[in-house]
Amino acid sequence: MSSEPEETSENTQGGGASGDPGLTANILMVEDEVPLAEGVARGLRGIGYGVEIVNDGLSGLERGRSEEFNLIILDIMLPGMNGYKVCRALRSEGVTTPILMLTAKSGEYDEAEALDTGADDFLSKPFNEVVLEARINALLRRSADGRAQPIMIEDLVLEPLPRTCHRGDVDIRLTPREYELLEVLMRHPGQVVAKKELLEKVWGENFDGDPNVVEVYVGYLRRKIDDPFDRALIDTVRGVGYKVGEPPDG
Ligand code: CA
Repeated sequence: MSSEPEETSENTQGGGASGDPGLTANILMVEDEVPLAEGVARGLRGIGYGVEIVNDGLSGLERGRSEEFNLIILDIMLPGMNGYKVCRALRSEGVTTPILMLTAKSGEYDEAEALDTGADDFLSKPFNEVVLEARINALLRRSADGRAQPIMIEDLVLEPLPRTCHRGDVDIRLTPREYELLEVLMRHPGQVVAKKELLEKVWGENFDGDPNVVEVYVGYLRRKIDDPFDRALIDTVRGVGYKVGEPPDG
């Protein structure tokens, strides 16, 4: 159990490729008050986190849905699209990145509403940086507890923090979508996961595009995790869905 984020000065910002889960995190900060955002970012970089700042809601949504981040700090009052809407949109697309919402001042916004949109925690401005760091660490730890342990099926390994994949000694680069899809399948080893379920979990319940997108992405995954290797791990169960590997213990 070495998944607790620890303070470290070893990491440079961004990248997140330290290979030691939990030691580093990439944080997206969506905040239109530039001096505040930069001050917070400086503090967080000082304790080893990578920080990217965007200054409006739409950019927040766009960057947030890239799923390159381990945590999102989201202001509520933002130009373009407010934080509630950004948060709701990300969640409806199936983005599970922990979100810490910043409220302008205590009581001005309904905290219940912030949580209702799918935020994991909130903090009212003005806040103390030490408190902010503690909240961030707690959220990262909480998400790490459930999600940072590597998932393994035979020689195929997914490392949730940072999101990497390898098979044996071979590093495999996955897009965020491919990663999500593979993660859902690998969390159900040997079980057939229905296409519909994959669509909901990976593309979001409100996805109204072509459901064949699942097949297309399974095809991309096969090319990366199966074709170059002797043994294929992804099975198609015709008319039902897909499975990866065999049931544990079977
Ligand atoms: Ca603001």
